[in-house]
Amino acid sequence: MRKEERYKEVINWFKENVPVAETELHYDNPYELLIAVILSAQCTDKRVNMITPALFEAFPKPEVMAASTPEVVYEYIKSVSYPNNKAKHLVGMAKMLISDFKGIVPSDIDELQKLPGVGRKTANVIASVVYDKPAMAVDTHVFRVSNRIGLTDNSKTPLETERELVKHIPKNLLSIAHHWLILHGRYICIARKPKCEQCGLKPWCKYFLQQ
Ligand code: SF4
Repeated sequence: MRKEERYKEVINWFKENVPVAETELHYDNPYELLIAVILSAQCTDKRVNMITPALFEAFPKPEVMAASTPEVVYEYIKSVSYPNNKAKHLVGMAKMLISDFKGIVPSDIDELQKLPGVGRKTANVIASVVYDKPAMAVDTHVFRVSNRIGLTDNSKTPLETERELVKHIPKNLLSIAHHWLILHGRYICIARKPKCEQCGLKPWCKYFLQQ
């Protein structure tokens, strides 16, 4: 099957079967989403959603977070993975938001990556979810599912995957495609043993067709 055809069929299937796909993280504004995405590294969205209400209430604005210390923030986030590092990142991120960005979460991917705790994946999530930019954030699910389906050819790095997906997926669908692939990887095409019997992508999935 040609790659163009595979992309077309897979996108059509998702459009028909998953018309709505959004982040499962809870947030009310770009600052809160940035915090939630930083916290979600190596951690489940469910766990992050359990602790963010109290965190957002205690630190409702970057100014408040910037004036705090990692030790204080740690107490609110100690049940997520790597709480020490993440507490330092959150305070550092808030400080830089105030000093360099007038307290506003930037929309540019390079500027976002200057913030402590913000790598390329997080920057792409913010650019795409908050600012509707044609960006593709590649996390472990997007990476694995793209290789399995054959949207990428045994890609070795997230950046390779990002470039390939951005090349083939129409710009206006990149944002929702990110969520399609994440949710598919989280619930159907899971890491250990994909649930192919429940999957509607079988007719075009390279992994399934090669079995
Ligand atoms: S058919 Fe199997 S391997 Fe392919 S996308 Fe579906 S669950 Fe994943």
